[in-house]
Amino acid sequence: MAKRKRSRQRPDFKIQRTETGDVATRADGLIVCDFCLAENPQWEYEAKDMAITAHPQIDMSQGAWAACGDCVRLIEANDVDGLLDRCVREQRENMPEGTPNADGSGVVRWPSPLDHRDLLRPNLVRFFFAKRGSPVPIRP
Ligand SMILES: [Zn+2]
Repeated sequence: MAKRKRSRQRPDFKIQRTETGDVATRADGLIVCDFCLAENPQWEYEAKDMAITAHPQIDMSQGAWAACGDCVRLIEANDVDGLLDRCVREQRENMPEGTPNADGSGVVRWPSPLDHRDLLRPNLVRFFFAKRGSPVPIRP
């Protein structure tokens, strides 16, 4: 999620440890979809700043959220459940367990798929209220 500010090189994280401590970001600085973590997302949503819960490194989202085409389609269809299913499935594929965290704080560990879905849901629901308008192409 858009824990980053406007920089596209490396996310600007606010660190917060949580009991669940399981979601992470890429250490190589690659920009990924803020929803499913796919590489090189082509779209972004302007959004109001909002709280991020149950995330080991982030407790606030500031600014735009990057999104890949598949996530945009689900968001534009207001398909929260479809987006949740996609995020749980794809995040694990795109950032396997053991991937180093961007902040040097260890490696990625995922909760069970059911817990993962429950932890993601409030953040995605908040995003639907925080986003402003339609997605726009990310400028290189
Ligand atoms: Zn995506």
